[in-house]
Amino acid sequence: MSRFLSDNYKSLVPYVPGEQVNVKVIKLNTNESPFPPSPKVKEVISEEVIDKLNLYSDPELKELTCAIAEQFGVTPDMVFCGNGSDDVLAFAIMGFCGKGGKLCCPEISYGFYPVYADIFGVELEQIPLKDDFSIDVNDYIGKNKNIVIANPNAPTGLALTFDEVESIVSSNPDNLVIMDEAYMAFCGESCMELVKKYPNLLVTRTFSKSHSLAGLRVGFGIAQKEIIEDMNKLKFSFNPYNLNTLSIKAAAAAIADNEYYDEKIATIVETREKVTDQLRQLGFTCTDSKSNFIFASSDKISAAELALELRKRNILIRYFNKAKIDNYLRITVGSAEDMQTLVDAVKEILEEK
Ligand SMILES: *Cc1c(COP(=O)(O)O)cnc(C)c1O
Repeated sequence: MSRFLSDNYKSLVPYVPGEQVNVKVIKLNTNESPFPPSPKVKEVISEEVIDKLNLYSDPELKELTCAIAEQFGVTPDMVFCGNGSDDVLAFAIMGFCGKGGKLCCPEISYGFYPVYADIFGVELEQIPLKDDFSIDVNDYIGKNKNIVIANPNAPTGLALTFDEVESIVSSNPDNLVIMDEAYMAFCGESCMELVKKYPNLLVTRTFSKSHSLAGLRVGFGIAQKEIIEDMNKLKFSFNPYNLNTLSIKAAAAAIADNEYYDEKIATIVETREKVTDQLRQLGFTCTDSKSNFIFASSDKISAAELALELRKRNILIRYFNKAKIDNYLRITVGSAEDMQTLVDAVKEILEEK
């Protein structure tokens, strides 16, 4: 630490992303897609577009907000785009909770929520999950605090139903409810249509998981236009060009290509179900994940040891050294082939025990 860092930030504990590697490994640790992005993405990153990079990107992101609005049947003024959905979550937590504001989230959830609460001076309540890792909806009814929930939740993979989400949103009319739908494409019970009915709901999505564009850094939030106006006010006070021209074009092309992504998402869901079965047959306990990862635990080997053994075989998965989940592993659903390699390796490791 230098002598110059503001006192405000001295105690900050940053988010720790999953490792990125250059050597050839089977990478099942950060919930990326095993598939390349839609071929339409390549078509729009043309030389003509590259030649125009001397100009600033469109700060209003018209092309992209229109493409997203069309997909979800909302108007473009209901869409806010960010440099990854992390950017969207940051603007929302900064703007609607702010210094001294109140926010709650599940105790076991996306690791960024506590970090954002901390950096923006928000008072965060972390609400324990039930023993089976599900969220107890009653904990959030009439909470009278802002709420952020990942649905499906990470790293458990468990999802709330549409009705459960609606009961949370409708019972907290004076607070913002952020539903982080980073993994919703693999679940299919989105609450997106509720944004028209409830002025206190913000739904966030990302291109990183279902749309094979983690490296592009694009996410978005959908809410009624007053919420989006507020978020734009913050954005234009902080970083007006938060998306670059290439990202805007690529994401707009990707979001329109349902045919391509529907098939990839279906394949991932199919592989998830198959591998979950295989792991259960090997004695693992797995949650009923509705995302693109499997959350699994074995009583034959500790999660930490299994992660280490897999790593020796060049297979990376995510291990969280955190109370209540430190005997679980989060395994991204990769290609069918890589997942078979994983299952074979797990078998071998268990046999050697
Ligand atoms: C991956 C993830 C995000 C962030 O994704 P971006 O790459 O920043 O768009 C947000 N929420 C959850 C729950 C995630 O798992």
